Amino acid sequence: LKLAHKKSEVRHIVADWQYNGDRIALVPTMGALHDGHISLIRQAHLHSDRVVVSVFVNPLQFGPGEDFDQYPRTLTRDVEICRKEGVALVFAPDQMEMYGNGGSGQDHFISLQISKMNEHLCGARRKGHFEGVLQVVSKLFNIVHADVAVFGQKDIQQYYIIHQLVEEYDFPVELIMGPTMRDADGLALSSRNEYLSADERKLAPMLFGGLQRLSDRVNDTMKSLKESGEFKTVLLDKSFISEEILRLEENNFNVDYLSVVSVPDLQPADVIEPGRLYVAAVAAWIGNTRLIDNIFLNG
Ligand code: AMP
Repeated sequence: LKLAHKKSEVRHIVADWQYNGDRIALVPTMGALHDGHISLIRQAHLHSDRVVVSVFVNPLQFGPGEDFDQYPRTLTRDVEICRKEGVALVFAPDQMEMYGNGGSGQDHFISLQISKMNEHLCGARRKGHFEGVLQVVSKLFNIVHADVAVFGQKDIQQYYIIHQLVEEYDFPVELIMGPTMRDADGLALSSRNEYLSADERKLAPMLFGGLQRLSDRVNDTMKSLKESGEFKTVLLDKSFISEEILRLEENNFNVDYLSVVSVPDLQPADVIEPGRLYVAAVAAWIGNTRLIDNIFLNG
């Protein structure tokens, strides 16, 4: 395993590999690696000869008052995990290396604007977040020159926005979505789970429980229609959603959103069309911790 802190090192190393015909996969992360990241690394191996993992806590994707300072930073441990997982290169730049000019990234003069796909879910709640994500991901694509990049379903809006970026700006990279890894009780793995107290941790799986119930109810409706030979569009029963929000709020969650959106455009769904894919996505606070999760519907 090689550990590089400089963009120029990465460029040289990857150029050598590609000269020899190797296919390169990139797994971008903010570190504090867990089994979710590891599953992406394993997916990356399936699609490449060499896996590159980037570890960078990107200041641009944190809003004022968010957890940038608190975010766990465990590079030594992350590198050991990468070594065990057969990763060829870890790229861990500091802020100065990544952004120059003082390193905050705040003083850049060009930024990508996202329309429509940013208007709901986390895009609506975390202003500037996905612009910050696109900034760092574009840089990583240009620095690493990977043939393929792997992102998790856990951050579903991120995935589809990056997918759109790649399409609209012709980044020569193929994207792969890795499924969400969960603890045995259903809680999606996240570096932020470390913030939860023991009591909060016990409540946290309710998020996925709510999504599953919602998905079962929508899927059952569609299935019984199909079985009765009626392959038609139906109104989404919004009471399914409000019941789950209520249940979460009764258990001390503070719900940012629980929404059903169509894929890949991420627009709120009023109806469910047969054969079309939707996603139910949730973001909620337990105490001071904001957790997100999602599930595909009608698949
Ligand atoms: P992060 O380090 O949280 O920025 O995440 C880096 C990558 O790991 C992103 O593509 C995430 O979607 C993905 N990821 C985070 N949590 C999980 C999980 N539980 N299962 C699968 N992928 C995940």
